[in-house]
Amino acid sequence: MSAGKVEGEQRTNTVVGDYVLVRSRRRSVGLEVRPDATLVVRVPVRAPLTLVDAVLLEKSAWIAEKLQQARNRNLSLPRHDFLTGERFPYLGCDHPFVVAAFQDRPLVFDEQTGFTLDMAVFDRGEQLFESWYRTRARELLTERVRLYAPRVGVPIPRLRITGAERRWGSCSATGTVSFAWRLIMAPTDVIDYVVVHELAHVRQMNHSPAFWAVVAAVMPDYAQRKRWLKEHGPSLTI
Ligand SMILES: [Zn+2]
Repeated sequence: MSAGKVEGEQRTNTVVGDYVLVRSRRRSVGLEVRPDATLVVRVPVRAPLTLVDAVLLEKSAWIAEKLQQARNRNLSLPRHDFLTGERFPYLGCDHPFVVAAFQDRPLVFDEQTGFTLDMAVFDRGEQLFESWYRTRARELLTERVRLYAPRVGVPIPRLRITGAERRWGSCSATGTVSFAWRLIMAPTDVIDYVVVHELAHVRQMNHSPAFWAVVAAVMPDYAQRKRWLKEHGPSLTI
């Protein structure tokens, strides 16, 4: 699937490097560093490029610092040490995590108290979480694919859960749809967007206007779900 990008003109400047220039009806220049370390510069419709260059030069220290912070955040993933007090995402919420002694099962989830890991298997935390997430992902995605396939107008496809790190879903030429288990960390409405996206590929193996029309017909508000995934997806990790 494609990632949601800011619509604008891709530009390069010797001071800040690549950035996206967005012209709109506004009076001032606005700078934003997005979580994926993209610099977005918003300017009035008729602002000359010399003005843009001057602002970028003036704010270059601030921009450099924000870009570095965003890159560091993305590099520092994964972010868990499996210590009591950490939080783990599941269906769009960050749940508390504790390590405790003498548990019946290695890893337990409870809606009220969150995740509990048995101290005896502390060193297998990552593996146990992945296995738990994979199981939940298979259960929920099986259900959501069955729900949405008729709405998209395709037969219920074969489903695979993958360890993909850079794509949330894919659809093969034979019509098998695949989803990354990490997707189970996202809110349900965002999971549903990825489901509809991949099912729509069974009908349209591209990102043409016809493809997006299929998605929009089933899910008119897909753009905001797509945006959520673009902005928060990098933090969905063990
Ligand atoms: Zn796609």
